Amino acid sequence: MTDPATIVLAGGGLAAAKAAEALRDEGYEGRIVLVGRESHLPYERPPLSKDYLQGETERDAFTVHDEAWYREHGVELRLGAEVVAVDASGHTVTLAGGERLGYDRLLLATGSTPRRLTVPGADGDNVLYLRTVDDSDRLRDALAKADRVAIIGAGWIGLETAAAARKAGAAVTVIEAQSIPLAAAVGSAISEVFTALHREHGVEFAFNARVREIDGSDVVLEDGSRIEADTIVVGVGALPEVGLAEAAGLTVDDGVTVGADLRTSDLDIFAVGDIAGAYHPLLGRHVRVEHWANALNQPVVAARAMLGRDASYDNLPYFFTDQYDLGMEYVGLPDPDRPRRVVVRGDLDAREFIAFWVQDDRVTAAMNVNIWDVTDDTQALIWSKRKVDQARLVDPDVPLSDLTDS
Ligand SMILES: Cc1cc2nc3c(=O)[nH]c(=O)nc-3n(C[C@H](O)[C@H](O)[C@H](O)COP(=O)(O)OP(=O)(O)OC[C@H]3O[C@@H](n4cnc5c(N)ncnc54)[C@H](O)[C@@H]3O)c2cc1C
Repeated sequence: MTDPATIVLAGGGLAAAKAAEALRDEGYEGRIVLVGRESHLPYERPPLSKDYLQGETERDAFTVHDEAWYREHGVELRLGAEVVAVDASGHTVTLAGGERLGYDRLLLATGSTPRRLTVPGADGDNVLYLRTVDDSDRLRDALAKADRVAIIGAGWIGLETAAAARKAGAAVTVIEAQSIPLAAAVGSAISEVFTALHREHGVEFAFNARVREIDGSDVVLEDGSRIEADTIVVGVGALPEVGLAEAAGLTVDDGVTVGADLRTSDLDIFAVGDIAGAYHPLLGRHVRVEHWANALNQPVVAARAMLGRDASYDNLPYFFTDQYDLGMEYVGLPDPDRPRRVVVRGDLDAREFIAFWVQDDRVTAAMNVNIWDVTDDTQALIWSKRKVDQARLVDPDVPLSDLTDS
């Protein structure tokens, strides 16, 4: 099979940049055009709510490649440019402004956009979101001046922002509609670890609290109470940017539906990163994962598949967070349709533990907090699908590797 003449990468984030790199690593010598809406070179987003927001790292540290790399590898960059339409049968994309680009293979890597708060007053200048490096710059400036910060949403980004705001010296209230933070992600026992951590650092929480409106510098809750803040940060989740795929007639369910080879319902169009609802061979279902590791690792598989080579993405979902002195890694994904229980090896109060999500006596996900170099073992345990004995699972004297072998 001859290589495609032109490959267009729609989206200018980590996934698009890694796809360009993987195509060249695979020996592809044809034309690569990367079209990205932001005017910045593709970069990684995790530092935007962590060390970069806290002024502890520079942009270069998380820029995927410098400009010279794209030049040397013959990757055409169209930054500050947007793909506004895909004509799948004509094999062309249209950019804002009307320019058309032909493609032989198209990779969609358009990522996510923050879910907006729609209550009255939510469009004020003091209401900030966090997705781009420009957002992070704006927020960092605001935190430096703020005495009081209100954060709407106790998800990962809300909590990481709370840590940064406390470090900047502001009083912080986190407003959450659920009764605990991270409810959907980790469940109550682990959620309590994060609540206690933030409370120890002076963060106040308003749980079971729905925002009715933003009235100038006040966040007004449904019960009429008011939380005053100079800066209000909204972190209520993200939505995959699937508009292009939908308009092009591709199958879209939770994200753009792709097989394990990351190919969409159109033979010549592929999707990776936050937008991809990819069939996972181990989990036996389609999963869409809004995590950095997916954007990092899926493009290698998509690049191979776009070049007509065998490829299948079967990495387990992986996520990390850093908040104050807590570092966490999480691998796997519990089956949402089956009962689960969380069992813990180590000390929750000391925030040094491994938590296992157990379903039908098998481990389907694991989280290590302030314990390192265990994700190879936890992933092997999940992959083994082996029934585990709970007493051995929680016993720190039983090496994790023994649980897989025995
Ligand atoms: C503040 C923050 C902190 C995070 N921290 C973590 C973390 O600690 N751990 C973790 O695992 N994950 C984290 N994530 C998630 C992780 O960053 C994402 O999963 C990852 O960025 C997804 O990469 P992507 O390339 O698919 O999409 P994106 O990074 O969203 O990039 C997509 C790019 O495509 C552009 N685009 C969209 N539509 C078009 C179009 N039509 N034409 C041209 N360009 C377009 C967008 O403007 C964007 O620049 C964090 C995310 C944020 C925002």
